[in-house]
Amino acid sequence: MNAYEVLSANTFFELADNLELFLTKPDLSQGDMKKLFLEVQHTCERIAMNSFLEGHPSWSVCSGIQASKVYLYRSWGKVRNLKQNIERLSSIINEIRNDFIPAEGPQITEESATKLLSFLDQYYDFSSNTLSGNHMFVLLPDCGHRVFDAFCRPYTNADHFSFCDIFMPRAVKDIKTPPECILLHELGHVLNVSLTGDIEVSSASFQKFNELILSPEDCQAVMQEATEMYAHVFAIAVLTAIELKEFDQYTYVPDETRSLMKKYIQYELSLCDSRQQ
Ligand SMILES: [Zn+2]
Repeated sequence: MNAYEVLSANTFFELADNLELFLTKPDLSQGDMKKLFLEVQHTCERIAMNSFLEGHPSWSVCSGIQASKVYLYRSWGKVRNLKQNIERLSSIINEIRNDFIPAEGPQITEESATKLLSFLDQYYDFSSNTLSGNHMFVLLPDCGHRVFDAFCRPYTNADHFSFCDIFMPRAVKDIKTPPECILLHELGHVLNVSLTGDIEVSSASFQKFNELILSPEDCQAVMQEATEMYAHVFAIAVLTAIELKEFDQYTYVPDETRSLMKKYIQYELSLCDSRQQ
């Protein structure tokens, strides 16, 4: 199994099977590893270049064979020595087999995810505010995840700036909420990570904002799950737009509260200078 054959995987499961065969090659060398790594790196660079040419240089939405290649590249991280590379690829195989499951639930389409991200760039300047030149991949693998219907995977670059990829597999648990609404929630986490550098730590102003709009008891309850609630507030704020009405699950939130949330999110997006301090 050579590098090209390994990377012909349409699904994460095929990728795991191919990697396993690759690792059983009797004369497997560091040269083979380098070739596979470079091939997968070049593919990701081509995907990013294509996004650049399509007018959104900071993000790419990938499904099928592209999602498998990007997943491998981002999980691999960097080329190490042969023993470390074998360990790394083995742990990727295990991660796929432990965490991902066959599923047929709903999933956002590449087209709809692209439209939503373009909307955010147009009206909120989202990617230039939150990604600071780093590239975000939104992966739509054709399978489910054992625990999450969607999740962010954070990375820290050489300048200590944190950013995320988003995984949007097929929904297994919540098959009713529109996946567009779930993607917006994840993008709320991306904003949070760009401000605090930590997916578990909420933005400094979030407590103050909640004190303004909630009773002390409600505020305390919200702050116990601060980063989750922050992601919800982001989704609620963005979904006030008439263009996104069909995805809006938050019509029960009063208009005045929603417009305050929108202002708050716009304020958060404007905090570029003080990020991750
Ligand atoms: Zn969340």
